[in-house]
Amino acid sequence: MRRIIVAIDGPAASGKSTTAKFLAEKLGYIYIDTGAMYRACALQAKLEGFAIDDLSSIIPMLERIDIKISYSESGNIIWLNGRDVSQQIRTPEISAAASKISAIPSVRYKMVELQRKLGKDGGVVLEGRDIGTFVFPEAEAKFFMVADLEVRARRRYQELKAKGIESRYEDVLQELKARDEADASRSLAPLKPASDAILVDTSNLSIEEQVNKLYEITLRKIAELGESNSPNNSVPDGIEVYLAHSSGYCFGVKRAIQMAREAKVCDKPVYTLGEIIHNPGIVQELEEKGIHVANNVSDLKDSTVIIRSHGITREEYETLQKNNNEIIDATCPYVKRTHTILQKMTAEGYPVVIFGDKHHPEVIGLRSFGNDKTIVVAEDEPPPKINENSLVLIAQTTQKIEKLNELVCKLLPNVFELRVFNTICLTTTLRQKATIEMAKKSDVVIVIGGYKSSNTSALAKLSSQYCPTFHIENEMQLAGVDLSKYKRIGLTAGASTPEEMIIKVYNVILQKSGHFSTVKSIEEIPLFKEESC
Ligand code: C5P
Repeated sequence: MRRIIVAIDGPAASGKSTTAKFLAEKLGYIYIDTGAMYRACALQAKLEGFAIDDLSSIIPMLERIDIKISYSESGNIIWLNGRDVSQQIRTPEISAAASKISAIPSVRYKMVELQRKLGKDGGVVLEGRDIGTFVFPEAEAKFFMVADLEVRARRRYQELKAKGIESRYEDVLQELKARDEADASRSLAPLKPASDAILVDTSNLSIEEQVNKLYEITLRKIAELGESNSPNNSVPDGIEVYLAHSSGYCFGVKRAIQMAREAKVCDKPVYTLGEIIHNPGIVQELEEKGIHVANNVSDLKDSTVIIRSHGITREEYETLQKNNNEIIDATCPYVKRTHTILQKMTAEGYPVVIFGDKHHPEVIGLRSFGNDKTIVVAEDEPPPKINENSLVLIAQTTQKIEKLNELVCKLLPNVFELRVFNTICLTTTLRQKATIEMAKKSDVVIVIGGYKSSNTSALAKLSSQYCPTFHIENEMQLAGVDLSKYKRIGLTAGASTPEEMIIKVYNVILQKSGHFSTVKSIEEIPLFKEESC
């Protein structure tokens, strides 16, 4: 029988763990508690004495974390750096810390990578918050479990009591409420039902009833899918179209859009400095809300100014402040980190090389935090002549890691000390890796995103090393692309490409192959799976 992926999501104490464990047992599948992984990260932070919001300690800590899961009659055993921490991670303190740490994108990406590795072969029940929407959007059976807050609080209180952990019912209720809110409002992979998930309210169900309900639905799904193991991503005419993992809006862009959407428009005029993102739909939406686009800092006085994810120059900040503007700084935290490193290294007297495109707004902003010894070097440019013994190298967040390595090799013979900060953001690296893997197995790749977007162009360049590649900005440009000779068509998109554009491109490709149904959400587009080729 076909062995599928079952995704169970939902808020804390909605009955996911127990149901998932028994369901897996009945199906003869593996059960994976993904929340335990975030809990293990939180425990490691506690053991090392780090505050959860101290990103400069938490991010390097991830390199030192080794999480393994083994299976026993009573559920998962969680191993953190070789130690069984299954009990230690269940305290209320770790629950709250897990919720906080799980909102950090680098933490999520590391855990999600592990979860995808564990689940990719099917025959698995995973439970968490984002399994059906983010980890395995292609999961064949998806459930979203809910229950009244009071019911959940009572269950969790009883559970803690049974384990001998002292707590008050009222505190448990408040803790669950806070966690639900935090989990549902974070920018990356928030708690929400997938559009194709089946909602199960467990408020009045016994465990047995819950398990049986999911078991019957899952068996029905398996029967519907038939015996075949072929992926469900083919469209008529025998072509397959799929999307690379991590395509589209990155965390920094999503966060900036959210901050702009949440900006209060009352007595002061509100502006974004430049378009928050090159997406007419979103610019229009903000315009309708009363948030206008300004292009020049010196025009802005006594206003609220939203800074987009690329950031701005030090001088622009100063002018905005001098002119009594209120600043909503949506600069991506990864870009901000490069500003801090450049400032610190410059203050220590190092000349700093920025690997990036000197015309890109992110690099223009970044460079202003250095001094006259700061040099910008673009991809494939010859290394600068350096007359000093020591040098620092940092990168624009969307550069290619291979190219950064090349520059290291070129610079190193000329200096005694070379300090390299890998400031390339993890999402960029993941997106590039996913695009390469897909390009290796595809007949053609369509890269979607602005021609001016450096990370999108980088994807096109990488993909073209493995297969014919077309870089398009919108679905209309597909008119000039002959796709009839290709069977396996891969899609990927840059960090600033809106989901709506990816959906439009996918729908046009379906139509070109004579298929007139369309998808409405990105989750409906099959993701590229290596084993499907
Ligand atoms: O499920 P559990 O309560 O053990 O999860 C602990 C925390 O880990 C949750 O509050 C949530 O913030 C986070 N989590 C997550 N994504 C998952 C599973 C858990 O963000 N897939």
